[in-house]
Amino acid sequence: MPGASAPRAGAEPVLRVQGLGRDYAMGSETVHALRAVDLAIQRNEYVAIMGPSGSGKSTLMNILGCLESPTRGEYWLNGALVSGLSDADLAHIRNREIGFVFQTFNLLARATALRNVELPLVYAGVAKDERRRRATEALRRVQLGDRMHHKPNELSGGQRQRVAIARALVTNPALLLADEPTGNLDTRTGEEVLALFAALHAEGQTIVIVTHEPDVAAHAQRRIVLRDGAIESDDARRHAGAPAAGPRGAEAEGSRT
Ligand code: ADP
Ligand code: MG
Repeated sequence: MPGASAPRAGAEPVLRVQGLGRDYAMGSETVHALRAVDLAIQRNEYVAIMGPSGSGKSTLMNILGCLESPTRGEYWLNGALVSGLSDADLAHIRNREIGFVFQTFNLLARATALRNVELPLVYAGVAKDERRRRATEALRRVQLGDRMHHKPNELSGGQRQRVAIARALVTNPALLLADEPTGNLDTRTGEEVLALFAALHAEGQTIVIVTHEPDVAAHAQRRIVLRDGAIESDDARRHAGAPAAGPRGAEAEGSRT
């Protein structure tokens, strides 16, 4: 029954990787940063990737974010095979489909918050007035409507990270990726950033966050642990068949709907 086995459009995972591997040549040695990762993430999941330092978390995120290509394996993003694409094609897909938040914010120091958030729209070829409108809206969404003309050194760490989140969201990406987004923030400021992620998730955003802090990972619905470049555990496999449910995220969301 070919028709019955075809996946419904709505059931298409946001991302799927199969046999994903990444090696780095270090002199005469080869580092196997990722070995053979299989993973599917559905629309509106909130996933935390954990694991010790050097376990391959950033390597995985950089591949998922189309910042790097895998050495082996396949990566489908929104149903399209992206592994094997040229750097130029990857940059195009990254601009359209991915919002990336870094531990160190990675804002342009000389540009205002508004300009930083507009930049992905410049690359996407969006006209000036529309750019300004959407960047303003994204900054309001992260409660920085009153800081739009500030430069990064005129903002606190938490505000800088919120500018970076607005920049990640301004293109309406299919996937929001965040690599240790609270790693450079104090606990209270980190909680504010996590509250923002929870609100975005409740609005339907798909989120993958890397953290080595269990308190941070507890905000997600599903936890994946990497060790030595491979998946050691994945909540979705433990509860196979059932929707991923976690202590906080799922209940908080359930009580709202
Ligand atoms: P994590 O983010 O979990 O700390 P990484 O993905 O950064 O881990 O690194 C995984 C492994 O790959 C580590 O052994 C690291 O040293 C190695 N690695 C990462 N990036 C590079 C690179 N650009 N060149 C060489 N080795 C790398
Ligand atoms: Mg890392």
